[in-house]
Amino acid sequence: MSTGFNLTPAHIEQALAKIDRDGIPQRRNSKVYDLLIDNKKYPLKIVVDIAHDIAGLPRPQGEGFNSIVSKEFFEANGYTVLTDKKQAHEEFRKSRLAEPGKTCPECGHPFQDGIDAHWRKNHANIMSYEEAWPLIQAGTYHEEKQRREADREADLKDLEAVVKDLDAIDKDPDLSPTEREVKGKARVGQSAYRKQMLELWGGKCAVTGCDLQSMLIASHAKAWAASSSKEKLDPHNGVPLVPTLDRLFDNHLISFHPETGDMLLAREIDTRERRMQLGISTVEKSLRKAPNKQQAAYLRHHFEAFMKKQRDKAVA
Ligand SMILES: [Zn+2]
Repeated sequence: MSTGFNLTPAHIEQALAKIDRDGIPQRRNSKVYDLLIDNKKYPLKIVVDIAHDIAGLPRPQGEGFNSIVSKEFFEANGYTVLTDKKQAHEEFRKSRLAEPGKTCPECGHPFQDGIDAHWRKNHANIMSYEEAWPLIQAGTYHEEKQRREADREADLKDLEAVVKDLDAIDKDPDLSPTEREVKGKARVGQSAYRKQMLELWGGKCAVTGCDLQSMLIASHAKAWAASSSKEKLDPHNGVPLVPTLDRLFDNHLISFHPETGDMLLAREIDTRERRMQLGISTVEKSLRKAPNKQQAAYLRHHFEAFMKKQRDKAVA
């Protein structure tokens, strides 16, 4: 806390008289607050400095913080203080910048209450509040953000390269459609797509929760042949599944309801015996979390293909 406010009304009167006599020192117009006396404005900071000189006290240090304290001091002593809100805000922000967790690291907004509301409204697209807050408190937010941006940049470059490779695979006259799909899927599976897709599912099988990475296959919800390059590389189009479920999903022997994530079984496997043989009798019969909007759009393609196959079978 500032200790420099042992001023008496006489010190202030003398400071004002001195300013009336000598004028305001050059380049020292008010940055934030003005004292208003008889329709005349006096820069608050200068009044405070000169009053301290007159009282024989050291001038208060720490611009931002002291202007707030000065304002409160003068208002408490019955003076009128004019404020430029924008500048006052800026000063306050600066005064708190040094303390991690007191100021928004993105826009400099001083946190009082409702930091989470502020974050959710303004910066949730950068990082969730839950992720950002511990970093802000630890003072490592910017560091971590930079690291993530670098990661994202690298992923983007990687994915651009994959798009080129997919294009080349698609145009290769020596490959059959099946070979193209196998090669394309392998290429996509090695890219940043897999990492991003797994992140969306917490690095686990979307149904069983198995986190053995070597057992997780990135299944595409929307059929490979029907997907554009962008869709093939969209992590929302992917569902990480253990091998049996992946094969069943790929063959439209299971599907997931696009809204609820409930698993549907094709008639061929919907007997106790078949389920036992396939080792899916004990499996939870839905996705571990309801699909988000983007995932649901892709799952709908799969779901519709699954339903059509079931209908066609019933007719045949
Ligand atoms: Zn902010």
